[in-house]
Amino acid sequence: MSKSEQLFAEAQQFIPGGVNSPVRAFRAVGGTPLFIQRAEGAYLYDADGKRYIDYVQSWGPMVLGHAHPEVIEAVVEQAQSGLSFGAPTELETELAEELCRLWPNMDLVRFVNSGTEATMSAIRLARGFTGRDKIVKFEGCYHGHSDSLLVKAGSGALTMGVPSSPGVPAALADHTITLSYNDADGVRSCFEELGGQIACIIVEPVAGNMNCIPPVAGFLETLREVCDQHGALLILDEVMTGFRVSLTGAQGFFDIEADLTTLGKVIGGGMPVGAFGGKREIMEQIAPLGPVYQAGTLSGNPVAMVAGLETLRLVQESGFYEPLITKTERLVEGILAAGKAAGIPITANKAGSMFGFFFTEEPQVTNYQQVMDCSNERFNQFFHGMLEEGVYLAPASYEAGFMSAAHSDEDIEATIAAAERVFIRID
Ligand code: PLP
Repeated sequence: MSKSEQLFAEAQQFIPGGVNSPVRAFRAVGGTPLFIQRAEGAYLYDADGKRYIDYVQSWGPMVLGHAHPEVIEAVVEQAQSGLSFGAPTELETELAEELCRLWPNMDLVRFVNSGTEATMSAIRLARGFTGRDKIVKFEGCYHGHSDSLLVKAGSGALTMGVPSSPGVPAALADHTITLSYNDADGVRSCFEELGGQIACIIVEPVAGNMNCIPPVAGFLETLREVCDQHGALLILDEVMTGFRVSLTGAQGFFDIEADLTTLGKVIGGGMPVGAFGGKREIMEQIAPLGPVYQAGTLSGNPVAMVAGLETLRLVQESGFYEPLITKTERLVEGILAAGKAAGIPITANKAGSMFGFFFTEEPQVTNYQQVMDCSNERFNQFFHGMLEEGVYLAPASYEAGFMSAAHSDEDIEATIAAAERVFIRID
């Protein structure tokens, strides 16, 4: 029995399913989850001492790679001054100022502890600001696990087969309208019928929770247009895409104006941080300035703030994003070529340092239904083959992959060589 198998058996005695977030359990792909001992740069080391080239990167935050020395140093130094004060610190202002300076339309920002809290609070604020109850989201997008948003959701909810979770009151789910991603006409006709009742649209501007689906030309523009026409707010959920697709996320890349933006992952550098921010007149509705309540014991935690500050300082160094994007392109091209050479029907999408592979005959995947039609069986064989080869991919076909600054060209060539060997073994 491997050490991971032993640790997993023990974990299941005390933790539901042995994990604290469902996809970690490897249910979709089968087998035993790796228990991780430590991580450094592009690599994870499991409890059995095996090294893996990691393309999960803690599900996105570790854009610098794991345990970046300067981030660790800042965290250790800050920890020595105290872990949490429950009172304001200068660090919160520094990180908030940085976000407001970098992101267009972010006049004010509030820190929370996770992406879930960020989107949940942004939705409440949109409802409070507009006085309307209904929200629009897209099938296969995941915005965390709050009630209103766990309707036809992506990521683990999709992997576990519960995109609309039991426990979400029907009365609440009734207020969530779910439309098809990349279907601008569907959005237009929904707003023609219900526009006056809709508080907001929330969208992943590149969908990263049903594998990786970039927006088709005109889709995000249509969302902006209908929101403007009908007095609804546009919430761009950049928890995953923020500081990943570009320094200013997908909204900078696609030049789309958000009323509210939600952030997480990279802005905490691996510590639990989320944020929501946006236009002043909207954000001023949040307590204590306005009546929409939102709070948090550990929000703006000083250790998390320095991890975020250090990470954002490093990603702003000149030339940070170009190599990240080039490496992502090389990885995607190499794996596609390997798949094709082995006669495997495969296609891929990418956006900045995010990518995803689809086992399908379709030349291009742009919507949820096409994702659903891909071969999970082939993905699972690919996943386990790569794991054996020492490459750690997300343990489910509905997740995006992530490149980090720490991945070397040799890591990428080694990954492509591993894929060449694995594809030959796949049926
Ligand atoms: N929004 C998006 C786009 C995400 O990808 C995620 C998590 O993957 C969330 C929100 C929820 O963030 P968290 O897991 O930190 O609660």
